[in-house]
Amino acid sequence: MKPNDLPGFDTAALRAKDAAHHLHPFTDTQSLNASGARVIVRGEGVRIWDSDGNEIIDGMSGLWCVNLGYSRQDLIDAATRQMQTLPFYNAFFKTTTAPATELAALLPQIAPPGFQHVFFTNSGSEGNDTVIRLVRRYWDLMGQPQRKTIISRHNAYHGSTLGGASLGGMGGMHEQGDLPIPGIVHIDQPYQLQNGLPGESEHDFGLRAARWLEDKIVELGADKVAAFIGEPVQGAGGVIIPPASYWPEIQRICDKYGILLVSDEVICGFGRLGTWFGCQHPHIGSRPDLITFAKGVTSGYLPLGGVLVGDRIAKVLIEQGGDFNHGFTYSGHPTCCAVAIANVQAMRAEGVVERVAADTAPYLAAQFATLADHPLVGDVQSLGMVAGLVLYKDKATRTLFPAELGVGYRCRDNCFKNGVVMRAVEERMIIAPPLVMSHDDIDEMIRRIRRSLDDTLAGLRADGLL
Ligand SMILES: *Cc1c(COP(=O)(O)O)cnc(C)c1O
Repeated sequence: MKPNDLPGFDTAALRAKDAAHHLHPFTDTQSLNASGARVIVRGEGVRIWDSDGNEIIDGMSGLWCVNLGYSRQDLIDAATRQMQTLPFYNAFFKTTTAPATELAALLPQIAPPGFQHVFFTNSGSEGNDTVIRLVRRYWDLMGQPQRKTIISRHNAYHGSTLGGASLGGMGGMHEQGDLPIPGIVHIDQPYQLQNGLPGESEHDFGLRAARWLEDKIVELGADKVAAFIGEPVQGAGGVIIPPASYWPEIQRICDKYGILLVSDEVICGFGRLGTWFGCQHPHIGSRPDLITFAKGVTSGYLPLGGVLVGDRIAKVLIEQGGDFNHGFTYSGHPTCCAVAIANVQAMRAEGVVERVAADTAPYLAAQFATLADHPLVGDVQSLGMVAGLVLYKDKATRTLFPAELGVGYRCRDNCFKNGVVMRAVEERMIIAPPLVMSHDDIDEMIRRIRRSLDDTLAGLRADGLL
C-alpha cells in the first residue's frame, strides 16, 4: 500500500488544516502557508515517505535523533509493554519506576568514567536548563555563590527554552525576547573559515580559539565563572568540527581555573561520532563534569533527555545539598525510559557504535569527500556520522554567494526533490544520517546529493547568478 493510498488520507485537506492552525517551530508561518507543509507519513529503516508517495533518504535522522532508523519493532514493543503495564508514574513522591531506575543504572555503563548519576528531563533544552540549576547549586554548596557566570560560544545551539536559548549563541534567537538571561556570556566559535587568520595552521587556530576562553575568564575574574559549555561538534550551527587541538586546550583552561566543563552531547551522544559520547572521541578528548543528552537516547521514538552528573558534583549535591528544588512531571517517564533501555540494548547487541567507528563513518567520510570535485563545493569535512560542506560561488578564492540569495535553501529544496534530506545552514550543507546506514544507502545518498548540487548549479546559471 502506497502511503497516499492510506484510507481517509487527504493531503490537500491536511495542508489546509495545518495552515489554519499549526504554528511550526523555527518557521515563517506566512511563507510556509503559501506553499503548504510536506506531509511525512511513514518511515522505514533510513527512509521516509511523504503523502505524495515520494521515497526520501533521511540524511538528517529526523532531527539528529533517529539513530537506529525508523520502524524498529523492539522499540515499539518496549513502549507497548510499558504502556500496558504502567504508562506513567512520577519520581517525586519518594517513588520510582523500574524503567527509570534501570536506565539510570544503565547509562553509567556506557558513559565515560566518573559518572554514576543521572537527572532525567524531557528534552535537551530542559537538560541544559537543569545544567544551569545544577552548576549554580554546586557552587552555592561549595561556598562560592559568586561563581554564577556560564561561558558559551557564538553559534552554539543549546535548545530553545529561556535557559537553553541563552546558553546558545544564536543571534536570531537572542533578538526575540531579550536574551541571553543574566550570567551567560559568549566567546567566538572554533570555526576556522570564519575566525581563522590567513596562513594560520589548523592546530594553531584550535589553540588560539580555545584561549578565547581563558581571555574571557581573566576578563570576568576566575572567581566569578561557574562553567563552560560546548557541543563537542556544533550541530545546528552547521556541523562545525573544531581542530583536534581545541578541546584539550579547553580542558587545560577549565582545570587551571577550577571551572566546570559541560559537554552538550544532545547530538554527539549515543554513537553519533563513533563513540558512545562525543567527549570520548580521540578528536575531542575532554573530561566533562556534566553531560547533557537527549535525541539519540531513544532514537527519537519518544521524548527523553537528561544530564549525566559527574561524581565531583553528585557527591556535593547528595551529601550537602538537601532538597534539590527542580524537576519535571515527566522526569524519568517510564515509557520513554523503557524505549531508551531497548535502544541502548539494541545498540550494544548489534555493535552499532563499534561499526560506526570501524566501518560506516570511514565509508561515509570517503564517499562524502568525493563531492569536493563539484564546482560549487569546498571545505568538505566529516567526523563520525556528521558531515558538512560549503557552497562557494568561486571555490578557488573561497568567495561565497550573497547571503540574501539563499543558495543553501535552493540546494536543500533540490535535495528534497531528488529524494534526500540535507540541511542548509547559510552557506553550509550538512548531514547527520542514521547510524545504521549500509554502504548501499550511503552510495545512493551521495548520488542524490550530487544530483542536487548539479541541479543547484544549473538553476543558478539559468537565473543568471553564475
Ligand atoms: C537539539 C539540541 C538541544 C535541544 O534539545 P531539544 O530536545 O530540542 O530541547 C540542545 N543541545 C543540542 C546540542 C542540540 O542539538
